[in-house]
Parts: sequence; C-alpha cells; structure tokens
Amino acid sequence: MVWSRRAEQILLRLIGELPSEQLDPTRTHTVRLGALHIGTSMWADYYLRPNGDVVVVGEDYDHPEVDTVYSDRSNVMKLLVWGSKRYPKLGELIPVRPPGAVDCPCRAIPIFAEGKVLCSKCGALGWLAPTVT
Ligand SMILES: [Zn+2]
Repeated sequence: MVWSRRAEQILLRLIGELPSEQLDPTRTHTVRLGALHIGTSMWADYYLRPNGDVVVVGEDYDHPEVDTVYSDRSNVMKLLVWGSKRYPKLGELIPVRPPGAVDCPCRAIPIFAEGKVLCSKCGALGWLAPTVT
C-alpha cells in the first residue's frame, strides 16, 4: 500500500496535539517511538508511526520491552480502523471501498462485525478488494 505525505502530516499533527500526559515516558512509549498510541490489547500497546509503520510494544508476553514493527497492509488498516474511533482524523486515511469489492466473511461473525476483534483478512475494513486474475 502507498503511505501518503498527507497520511504522514495527519499523524505528525495528531502526535503534536497530544496532551502532555500522553508524552510522559513513564506512561506511554509515544516519545521514544515517535508514534501515536492507538490502543492496548490484552498486554500489548499499539502505535502508529508517521511513516505508516505499526509498532507493537510487548506483543510477546514474555518480552514486554520488545518492539515489533509491521508495515503490511492488514496491520496498518487494522490500526487505522481502530485508531479512527479515538482520533476521527485517521478515518480520512481508510480507503474507500472500491466497486467490485466483496464483503469479508468476517461480517457474518458477530465478534468481528461488532468490532470487538479486528479481522486480519480484511484489515477490519469489512470488505475485500476484487481479486485480480
Ligand atoms: Zn474481515
């Protein structure tokens, strides 16, 4: 996927507008990572960098200090969909469903449809791009 200059600017602005407690290094990894805190799942913290990288802190329960970086479309989309609930501006970066897209099978599964669990297949978008054959 193409991470745009616009996306970078939105992320930088959101980070710049964070209240000071969000920048407190004893409470978040925002300053260390230079990334926006999107949310916490179980024990891991999820961040989005202005360059479009997803950084997960403590994904491995046994290594809470280790950062894992993802840049694949599914992980980035999940963070945008999740993050747009907390930072509505991120919603601008969620791609519009293209003509010919099909509903993802997750939409028929309540736990996904309600947004309690984010689907990796569609990146929580709820649709899949038409397959190119
Ligand atoms: Zn799905």
